Amino acid sequence: MSRKVEKLKYCPAGHFSEDFAYPDYFDKRNSILSDGICSLCTKEHLIQEFKNWSSENTEIDKIIQESQIKYKYDKLHWIPYSNFQNINHIADCDYGSVYSAKLENGIKDDWNFIKQDWKYHSIGRKVALKEIKDSRFDIVRVVKNYDCIDYGISKNPSTKS
Ligand SMILES: [Zn+2]
Repeated sequence: MSRKVEKLKYCPAGHFSEDFAYPDYFDKRNSILSDGICSLCTKEHLIQEFKNWSSENTEIDKIIQESQIKYKYDKLHWIPYSNFQNINHIADCDYGSVYSAKLENGIKDDWNFIKQDWKYHSIGRKVALKEIKDSRFDIVRVVKNYDCIDYGISKNPSTKS
């Protein structure tokens, strides 16, 4: 049995459905749904978490943060390396290596104002992990051109790449 999801005018935090959520996104208006989703709640919680993670590269941090604030294309995420499980080497390429891996905990999708917790997507999903080992390779340029990145960016704590 599926519960009917309705559009709401206000969320419990007081956001309004006519507010602008993502000025650069094609759907600029805030979307508030009765199953607990509000674009502005999600955005505020993502911003609150900026202090909890860092790629150790301020330029990359800035790109990820901007993608979450503006919803440019899709949101990028900083993914802790420990979220990747069952890492298997697939191939080497000129800049590094490609692995398959399982996204153990998924990716934060939306803040749920009913559960007061994150809703995750892609939990347990198999993904391709590209490790860039060539230090001449400009990671900032790759990240800026992020239509080639589906989920986010991580750092291998042992190789620092
Ligand atoms: Zn809200």
